[in-house]
Amino acid sequence: VERYEIDVAFEPERGFLRAKAAVTLRASGGTDAIEFELNPALTIQEITDAQGRKLAFDRSRRLGSPRLLVRLAEPVAADAADQSLTLTFVYEGVPQLPGLDYINKDGILLRDEARWYPALDLAAFTENGYVIHLPTGWQVTDGSEAAAKTGFQPSGLYAFRPARRSSSRSLVAFPTREPSGKDCLLLRMSHGPEYEVMACMPWVQQPQRLQEDVHRILGALESAFGKYPSRYFSIVLGFPGQRGAIGYSAPGFVVVSEDAVKWQGVRGYSSEFLPHEIAHQWFPIEVTLARQEDGWLAESLAEYLAWRYLQETSLLDAKKMVARAMRDSLAHEPLRPVGLGLRLFGLEEWDVTYATLYQRGMLVWRTLETVIGRQRVDAALREYYKRFAGRSASVANFRKICEEISERDLGWFFDYYIGGTRTPEIELHRLPGGAPGELLGEIVVRDAPPEFTARVEVRIHTTTGAVDHSVATRDAVTPFSLNVSGQVTGITLDPDARILRWTEAARSNRRQRQWMASLGALERARQFTEALEVTQRALEADPQDLAANEQQIRFARGRLYDRLRQYTRAMQEFGRVLELSSHDQPSTDLFRAWARVYRARIERRRGNMAAAQAEANAGIAINAPALDTEVTWPDSPEKKTTAAQELRALAK
Ligand SMILES: [Zn+2]
Repeated sequence: VERYEIDVAFEPERGFLRAKAAVTLRASGGTDAIEFELNPALTIQEITDAQGRKLAFDRSRRLGSPRLLVRLAEPVAADAADQSLTLTFVYEGVPQLPGLDYINKDGILLRDEARWYPALDLAAFTENGYVIHLPTGWQVTDGSEAAAKTGFQPSGLYAFRPARRSSSRSLVAFPTREPSGKDCLLLRMSHGPEYEVMACMPWVQQPQRLQEDVHRILGALESAFGKYPSRYFSIVLGFPGQRGAIGYSAPGFVVVSEDAVKWQGVRGYSSEFLPHEIAHQWFPIEVTLARQEDGWLAESLAEYLAWRYLQETSLLDAKKMVARAMRDSLAHEPLRPVGLGLRLFGLEEWDVTYATLYQRGMLVWRTLETVIGRQRVDAALREYYKRFAGRSASVANFRKICEEISERDLGWFFDYYIGGTRTPEIELHRLPGGAPGELLGEIVVRDAPPEFTARVEVRIHTTTGAVDHSVATRDAVTPFSLNVSGQVTGITLDPDARILRWTEAARSNRRQRQWMASLGALERARQFTEALEVTQRALEADPQDLAANEQQIRFARGRLYDRLRQYTRAMQEFGRVLELSSHDQPSTDLFRAWARVYRARIERRRGNMAAAQAEANAGIAINAPALDTEVTWPDSPEKKTTAAQELRALAK
């Protein structure tokens, strides 16, 4: 497909659209039918060709299939290498929107995946022209400069023609509250990059901070990987009524949920979310994916770039992001290859997809730094963007660039870490001997291919302080010697977790998950004592709390003792919950707040009203977004509530 001319009218109240879409494409000689995709709930009134002839078409009989075969009036001449055809589709209806998409009174988001227009390739770069009919007072954008310049049209009628070819036909629309359309603020930066950032979110009092964050992220990515391709960037509030940090990135705009906006800038709350979404402007929006299997170059890369951004702006968040990934990316049994890419979304539950493509995929990028060096990774990304912007590319294309830049064969790396599911064991052994002030040791790599080589960092703790060294491994066993001053008191292998490998935290986490998996069933069967036994085993599986799961386990124990009416024990467990933390700030806050709820309830049952109030007030003082998270606990499974609600009631 080369061009779309789409005239579409929306009736948001009933989720309805009516469209006329002219699709210009090049067909090769001999073609007599073309297979498109269109949302199966849309009714096609007619399909005509450039001569005005009505064309026959077949829709797939498989339920929910978007497939649509259009028969040409006559085949493209066999000797015509590439013939231009324009087909016009007239269709209407209430599309089935199972994903992030929506059409309702609060707004519209139609991604390419909604198949709201006839598509051959959802990520094709095409020229587009739009005429969009909306209710009066609504605003729409496709993220292009043309749409930004069209601005707010009080009539609800928009016509614009983006100058650049785009890899997406996604649209976002929303009703404005100000009759002037001033809900969309334009932030003009007086210096620095040339683009302008719009924040379209009526209820946010001070969208400037968000705009500035977006601007800073765009600037950081631009200086790292190449120019941001658009003059405008819009950040639009969307996903009405949905909780949690949700985002969608399309050329020139990102749609974010209410929670994502509220959490932006709160330490530890999805701090990687906004840089991840904005990184998609480069990958995979400017360099699209050749195949679904190349998803490492989209989700994993966006996650890696988000981590890089956090490393510059919020080191603690960056460290926790890595700690979570090192633990959780190896949690599922069996592991899935990162090389399944975007296919994982259809094949697996979200938590497996997240652990594989986002977390493990991000760690694979970091591991690549230890193999060819960070500067070469950056150089490869710049070259990849330069070479493929405006086109699609594959993991194989990126590998070739890495090999050119590092002058090495990296087949083993891509086969092992992306194609496979094996993960190395890396150990450090101290060896006896050595001269005074000399440390002898060896690094042993197991379950890795013979070509495996990486730069392993070693932190030597001595009586005079800690010193970092790095050792390039060559074979399964790499001996090394280091000069040290003072007495060696300890050695830490890979202290910054730069290499994707098995760690004690990941192993402990796996064991703990196995124990905790049976907890829900035991609790439902009211076998509280047996359930406590299981939590005890889980605690014993990680006595040093390397996996940082103890807070969650103590919380479960507190609840179980509470159900057994052993209030002294329950108070002790909830007391530990208040002292402990996890790798995830929202969880940490949630467990602490709920520990206060349970402690306040116990105090009240004991008749200690002042103590109950004090617990509740201490809970309210946590003052974190997690207090507003709706939860249910097994002791009252039908009751959805928030810690804030419970604490306020208990504080009275
Ligand atoms: Zn993403």
